[in-house]
Amino acid sequence: MNVKTLPVQDEIFRISHLSDLLEEYLEPDQVQDVYKAYLFGAEAHDGQHRVSGEPYITHPLAVAKILADMRMDYQGIIAAILHDVIEDTPTAKEQIEKEFSKEVAELVDGVSKITLMDFGSKAEAQAENFRKMMLAMVKDIRVIMIKLADRLHNMRTLGVMRPEKRRRIARETLEIYAPIANRLGMNKVRLELEDLGLQAHYPQRYRVLKEAVIKSRGNRKEILNTIETSIKRRLRQEELKGDVAGREKHLYSIYTKMVSKRLSFREVFDMYAFRVVVNSVDECYRVLGVMHSLYKPVPGKFKDYIAIPKANGYQSLHTVLFGPYGVPIEIQIRSRDMDGVAESGVAAHWLYKSGDNNSSTSLRAREWLRTLLELQKNAGDSLEFIENVKIDLFPDEVYVFTPLGEIMEMPRGATVVDFAYAVHSDVGNTCVAARVDRRLMPLRSQLYNGQTVEIITANGAHPNPSWLNFIVTAKARTNVRYYLKHLRRDEAVELGKRMLDKSLRGLDSTLSDVDDDQMSELLEVNHLADVDALFEDIGMGGRLSLLVARQLLDSYDETVGDKAKSHSLVIKGTEGMVVSFAKCCHPIPGDPVVGFVSTGRGIVVHTQGCNNIADYRKLADKWIDVEWSHEVEGDFVAEMRVDVANQRGVLATLAAIISDMDSNIENVDIEERDGMTHSINFTLTVKNRDHLAGIIRRARSVKSVMRISRKKN
Ligand code: MN
Repeated sequence: MNVKTLPVQDEIFRISHLSDLLEEYLEPDQVQDVYKAYLFGAEAHDGQHRVSGEPYITHPLAVAKILADMRMDYQGIIAAILHDVIEDTPTAKEQIEKEFSKEVAELVDGVSKITLMDFGSKAEAQAENFRKMMLAMVKDIRVIMIKLADRLHNMRTLGVMRPEKRRRIARETLEIYAPIANRLGMNKVRLELEDLGLQAHYPQRYRVLKEAVIKSRGNRKEILNTIETSIKRRLRQEELKGDVAGREKHLYSIYTKMVSKRLSFREVFDMYAFRVVVNSVDECYRVLGVMHSLYKPVPGKFKDYIAIPKANGYQSLHTVLFGPYGVPIEIQIRSRDMDGVAESGVAAHWLYKSGDNNSSTSLRAREWLRTLLELQKNAGDSLEFIENVKIDLFPDEVYVFTPLGEIMEMPRGATVVDFAYAVHSDVGNTCVAARVDRRLMPLRSQLYNGQTVEIITANGAHPNPSWLNFIVTAKARTNVRYYLKHLRRDEAVELGKRMLDKSLRGLDSTLSDVDDDQMSELLEVNHLADVDALFEDIGMGGRLSLLVARQLLDSYDETVGDKAKSHSLVIKGTEGMVVSFAKCCHPIPGDPVVGFVSTGRGIVVHTQGCNNIADYRKLADKWIDVEWSHEVEGDFVAEMRVDVANQRGVLATLAAIISDMDSNIENVDIEERDGMTHSINFTLTVKNRDHLAGIIRRARSVKSVMRISRKKN
């Protein structure tokens, strides 16, 4: 763990060493399980070697040791030993589950998934998204801890790799893994990753910096001692018990400070830093007061990270003082608990609560989060703080790749169509399907972290109103609505034309029989600009086609009305926005239906038995006869009510049947009828009456279903 105690290259870490370490904090049977994992792993990796020539199993053992130093629980240790078997050997996840546990199998699987994510050549600008994506993919924080330990060991043994590979891994470590360790507050791991990363990425700069540090260390020793002695003496006088230690800045932070602030080594390094660790928060503030009276504080440099902790939970008081000979002294003051978190972050909960076998790990991660939230509560309203923690551990976003490897951030629940619009509105408008991880997927498919999404577009394809049912992003919604608004007019014109023709046919004429003079006269009388305006008006329900037809033929013979009714308007289901289906009775193909011409909304189709149509009957001329086309297309909404005996699991069984029957559940409502029975109301999509009847038939065979019926108002 510590830079200074790197394992000697030729000394291989063995299972016996690990067992010794584990016996300090695990139960004997748990250590036995770990040993079993070792045998399993050694056999799986049998014959494989590391680039250095050592048997492969030495690597997972070393990773397990890093975690054992953090007092990782035994499932985590087992998963660490097995962390490469899914990826590098024929072993399947199921086998691990059988031999060990589901928990271990999930952990190993999680690590493998992260390993498969290839940061590769991606631009630095993508690093932040990549880190988020990695954290978003992880359901169990131990997966990240194992991955960090894995990377740490690989960095420690990087020397054997070829230079360009070394640099690539080092860059990835600095851009991805060290910041993740930092985000989780695992400071010790972070510092070592940074140090090793700098060394491997910029060997020359690393050497120069290191020499400079060693050289100035000699010159500084005397001053350091002087300051340390006076701090300790003063604390004793005030009867404050605390550990005082000099700190040296780490090479990587010196390096980044020099680069980002364009400072010389001297300017960055010319600072004497101390840490005072005390027992309580109260003492922290008292020590601060004492320090400010010992040396004069530099104005504007005091930071209270106890009241307002950093995003990863770090707490401390920071201040800078004018020391003797005018040297600046930086002091960090914190309690022992804070010191634990400052070093190990989320891992602190394993480190300090190792005896507690009951608490599951996710519980501990949650506890860590809870601690953070509590700190936040005490800290007042620092929204950004909560947001930072939440985004990383319980993300509301998913991260997916474009075929070119760019990472796109989408809200949780986003679908293929949302993604298409995020790429470009033209792509969204013409998308027809997608390849998700090279598999063909429908447009409504939801996206998950780490998927690569390629949108398939087609010339002439256009947005569908039904997309509004599943898209979640504002961009997709706005675009679809905009398109539909314009489309609506075209559709209305098309429908209006059909309706007028139908009415004319009812009067033994057709639209093509109408001559130009008749038409222009009608347009003039009605103050309409052109024939499309007339059709649109009819299609939108602003004008009745039958009346227009009569006007055109100049025929007001009363008997024609009945005749016209024998010609029904045929509904294909593809009319778009100008034909809609009533929400009260949910007509589906096969139902006897009737259409109501509603001003501004086009035709609303009701079932003939619908209660609502009684009122409308008074407006007889607003009703038109409609019938289903033989080639009716699309999904229609129907409601089904199922009365069930109070039994758990029945909902899942019914849902499975419905989806098995190729129907989608749009909504489910459960009402308690009495203590024993419940009514479940499903809103489903079906093709037609036969389809619905099939679903009802199968649902009826479920044991606890007592009654089932299609629901109409
Ligand atoms: Mn590994």
